[in-house]
Amino acid sequence: MKPRPLTPTLSPNEKTIGGEGVRLGLLERLAAAQSERARQALLRRLRTVEAVDGAHIQIAGKQLLNFASNDYLGLAQHPALREALAKAVARWGVGASAAHLLGGHRDEHAKLEDALARWTGRERALLFSTGYMANLGVLSALLGAEDLCVQDKLNHASLLDGARLAGCVLKRYVHADVASAARQLDTHPSAPALLASDGVFSMDGDVAPLAELAALCRAQRATLMVDDAHGLGVLGPEGAGSVAEAKLSQDDAPILMATLGKALGVAGAFVAGSATLIDGLVQNARSFIYTTALPPSLAAATSAAIEIARFEGWRRDRLTRLIAHFRSGAAERGIALLASRTPIQPVSIGDSAAALAVSAQLEEAGLYVPAIRPPTVPAGQARLRVALSALHAESDVERLLDALADCLP
Ligand code: PMP
Repeated sequence: MKPRPLTPTLSPNEKTIGGEGVRLGLLERLAAAQSERARQALLRRLRTVEAVDGAHIQIAGKQLLNFASNDYLGLAQHPALREALAKAVARWGVGASAAHLLGGHRDEHAKLEDALARWTGRERALLFSTGYMANLGVLSALLGAEDLCVQDKLNHASLLDGARLAGCVLKRYVHADVASAARQLDTHPSAPALLASDGVFSMDGDVAPLAELAALCRAQRATLMVDDAHGLGVLGPEGAGSVAEAKLSQDDAPILMATLGKALGVAGAFVAGSATLIDGLVQNARSFIYTTALPPSLAAATSAAIEIARFEGWRRDRLTRLIAHFRSGAAERGIALLASRTPIQPVSIGDSAAALAVSAQLEEAGLYVPAIRPPTVPAGQARLRVALSALHAESDVERLLDALADCLP
């Protein structure tokens, strides 16, 4: 696969803005590309949130019921996390002051890594500052130019970018299609191979066929990597994630990555697996080595979050009830949803302008449900990404369903 330029394709008109033989200014080109995006209803819009209170946020002075949060268990504002954070700030101050390898690795980080390894049933875990960096770090540390990386077409952008950074041979398979994955592995039968999949797909909400992918990897001597950003805390026994739900051991799924900014309500990410994997990442993962460690206070807050996420099962039970309520209410009202059993419940729209219009109408009605458009999702598949949280009440879900029934084209 050829690397894709970051600049969007310009129309012939826009390409000649500079004129023949005249160098086109980069910012001029950027402005032209943005106008084109706006024309296609694809411009991304940065909004500022002025306040957060439970499931409500305030934007532009207006209280909105928030259906865009990844705080699936309702932990981001939890008093136990605030308290753990404040205590750690009193002990450590604010920043980690250095990279992990140069004095930034505090005992809060070490304790959190142990707790994550125990929770996920892995030998060791290693913290990264963000999920994006964890994926870049793992793929670029493990894969060289001759190696093969096989990925689901709907994987998160950071997995794709990790393979690009590694410069390996990248092959993408049809979403959740194990036979297609097998065909892609067969294209380079003797190359060392990594098969990477999201556990729960971030824009569709469906769960990867992990047991089948693990069996394929075993048969083909490929290494399975699962990005469980949206599964950890939500699926599996004690919320240990999609990999635990599929009963995959460390041998079956040797590389497990997940983020700490979603169900755990804090920030950062980790990779879990064997001592060999973790030691190798410490030596080679540049996005671990060359960056400042997470503030220790965030590590302390995350350790507190794990206790709640593991042992307050009622939060997952409540989510399960809300998901069932939303899906049955949508079916009764003829609202088209994607096939998902997770808190990510996208409403299909198709056209980008229509998705924006419905999102704006919902906002008028006091509901925040952003439209997700290409290139985040494939062309023609714009949608509203409804995210449910244990913070929602059944009546909030009813309100959303009624508003959707009113606003959908
Ligand atoms: N992987 C997946 C599947 C994600 O959804 C995200 C977050 N959008 C990431 C990785 C990146 O995680 P972070 O936000 O911590 O960079």
